[in-house]
Formats: sequence, C-alpha cells, structure tokens
Amino acid sequence: MPNDTSTAASPPRHIAILGSTGSIGTQALEVVRAHPGRFVVEVLTAGRNADLLISQALEFKPNAVAIADVSQLDKVKDALWSADIKVYGGEDAVAQLVEMESIQVVLSAIVGFAGLAPTMRAIEAGKHIAIANKETLVVAGELVTQAAERKNVALLPVDSEHSAIFQCLSGEGHNPIEKLILTASGGPFRGFSAEQLASVTLEQALKHPNWTMGAKITIDSASMMNKGLEVIEAKWLFDVSVDQIEVAVHPQSIVHSCVQFQDGSVIAQLGVPDMKLPIQYALGYPQRLPNAFPRFSFTDYPQLTFEQPDPGAFRNLQLAYDVIAEGGSAPCVLNAANEIAVAAFLKKEVGFTQMSAVIEEALASVQTVQKPSLEALFEIDTLARDAAHRAIKSA
Ligand code: NDP
Repeated sequence: MPNDTSTAASPPRHIAILGSTGSIGTQALEVVRAHPGRFVVEVLTAGRNADLLISQALEFKPNAVAIADVSQLDKVKDALWSADIKVYGGEDAVAQLVEMESIQVVLSAIVGFAGLAPTMRAIEAGKHIAIANKETLVVAGELVTQAAERKNVALLPVDSEHSAIFQCLSGEGHNPIEKLILTASGGPFRGFSAEQLASVTLEQALKHPNWTMGAKITIDSASMMNKGLEVIEAKWLFDVSVDQIEVAVHPQSIVHSCVQFQDGSVIAQLGVPDMKLPIQYALGYPQRLPNAFPRFSFTDYPQLTFEQPDPGAFRNLQLAYDVIAEGGSAPCVLNAANEIAVAAFLKKEVGFTQMSAVIEEALASVQTVQKPSLEALFEIDTLARDAAHRAIKSA
C-alpha cells in the first residue's frame, strides 16, 4: 500500500477500526461516511459502549465486531443476530479479529496500553497500521518499529503532529532531518506557574481550547504529558534522536508541526484543527481524497504565535525527556503510572500536580530493564501500575 497510486475509482480499501466508539473511532467513521465506496469496514471494536457499537454496526455492516467488556456481549449479540454480523467478546477477541484476511489497514485507536497487544498482532499479521494509539509506541517503540520493518507494513501516523511531519517528509527521499518541530497548543493552562497549576480543577482541565478528544488525552494535553508522549512517538516513527526534537507552543493549533532539513529549510503542514484530516490521510494514503471538511484561511487567523514550553511548571514534559534518556522499559513505567494517575485525577482522587508526583514515585520504584521483550513489558506495566496505586494511597 505505501506505493499504491490507486484512484477514487480503484477497489475500496478494507479497514478495521479498533476503538470505533471513541473520539478517533467515531471521526474515522465520519471519514468513511464522507467517501462512499472508498472504504469497506470489516471490523469494529469497542471497550464497553455496546449501544454505540450496535448502531455503528447496523450502519456500516462490518463482517465482525468485538466488545472488550464481556458483560456487554449478550446485548450486542441480541441486537445484531439478524444482521449477519459476527459478534465476539473479550480483549483477546479484539486482538484476534485484526488477523482477518480481508483487512488491509487497521486503525489503532484504542486508548492506552490496551492498544499494544492488538496493534502488535495486526503488524505480525502483515496489516498496515494507521496509528493513533501513541501509547503503543511509547511503551514498545523499538519492538513495534522493528516488527513493522520485518513485516514490511506501513506505520501511518494519525496524531496530527506526526501526520504533519510525515507529510512534510513526503518526497524528501533520504534527505536527512536536522530537526523536528512538534507544535503544542499549550492546553487550557498555557502560561500557568507551578503554583497556579496546583489548584486547577478537573472541570478546567477537561476544557481543551482547540480540540474535542477522549478524556485521557484531554488531561494529558492539559498536563503536557501528551506532548511528552508525542516526543517519544516521534523519536520512533521518524528514527531521530530526542535532541533533534523541539517543542514549540503554538496556541492556535494551525501549524501542526514542521521538519527542518540540513540546508536550514523548514517545511510545515497547516490546517484547521480537525482530526478528520490526519485520519483521512492515513486511511487513504498515499491519496489525498477530496472532501468538504472546513478549510483554513490565513485571514481567519491573522496571528500565528509561537513560544517555548515551560518544563519547570509542566513537570510531565521533563519526565518524558528523562525516560527517553534512560531508555529500555522506563517509558513503559512512565506510561503506566500516567494512566493510573490520570484515571485517579478523573475520579478527583488526586490533584493536578500530584499526577507528576505519582509518576515520579513509580519511576523511582520500578527498575529499568534495557531491551525488554514484549512479555517483559507486560510485567513491567503491571508493576508500574501497582507502584502508582501505592503512591496514590500514600498521598
Ligand atoms: P477515547 O477515550 O475517546 O476512545 C477510546 C476507545 O478505546 C473507545 O472506543 C473505547 O471503547 C476503547 N477502549 C478503551 N479501553 C479499551 C480496552 N481495554 N479494550 C478495548 N477497547 C478499549 O480515546 P480517543 O479516541 O481520544 O484516543 C484514542 C487514541 O488516539 C489514544 O491513544 C489517543 O492518545 C490517540 N489520539 C487521540 C486524538 C483525539 O483527537 N482524540 C488525537 C491524537 C491521538 P468504549 O468507549 O466503548 O469503552
């Protein structure tokens, strides 16, 4: 597929959407809806939102669906029994379905570590991956990129920043990258000091100025952990060292990211903040499919501004750089502890700045393993989650 030059008249692309009931999943289905005949939805999977999965299945008529929460399985089966759609339950079923022969591209849009197993399984089955689930690359970037290379499958970025970089690199052949400039909106607390951050509320943190996203990534954006995870994601996707990745806070979220080449030229990708664009680019790659999505105009945005991030106030960004420097399983620990800390913040069990403290405690208590296997990463993930829970209890 990476060299596929098919046109809109070519045969449709057969896709699986993991996490179809989430923010990325539902927007991916909007893309499918906008291009009748271009995509065939083979598989949809959900965590526990049975009602939405059922209505998606009835509309898009996939070959099969899976719901991770087995307590919802009967409900989905009852609703779809007459629709000739196979229905499965459990996390294993989600991972198994990606192996279906007819699937060409798997959109990995489950949130968190839960996306790792099905994504790896899809790569091993030779499927191209449209990757939204950044946690997979944070936890197991080396294993994932090696497996993708071995299986000759494309990792097509969906994260808007990484899609931007991917697009900037298009046609650049082997021209070396001097620097990647990852833009960040700065979230709702841009410019806040550490003292101000200590008293922000959940409600404030959930109000992202530019993007509507799932709860976890919204909190990650507010805490700048999202940018930290993206730095790690960029390192693996584009094979650069971390000191070649610069973060620039750009509150308008129009310049999605840039590449600086060794002649000093900087190429940027621009567009309105709309995830349907990078989703469509990944699913339709290498074609740019026509659409009626909103267009960018410079006159609507007369000022595009850029500033430096403040890793002193936003401790998570520094922690992400620290774990890359440490390497091995350290990013896996950071990711697991962050998932637990964010879940606790969403339940108002910890304050905003306590999330970083929980992650630091987990990092201090779980020993780093260099060159971990996939199995080792699953064990380390569990250890890190336990350590984070202990840190929350003792807070
Ligand atoms: P959401 O929380 O909106 O959706 C997550 C999806 O994963 C849902 O379909 C959910 O199912 C499913 N899910 C959750 N847990 C499990 C599990 N254990 N097993 C199987 N499925 C599960 O997240 P987003 O769509 O916002 O984000 C998805 C990924 O994309 C994340 O990694 C995020 O960082 C990344 N991303 C998101 C962007 C965005 O704009 N939203 C932008 C760039 C990247 P259910 O709801 O049925 O429980």
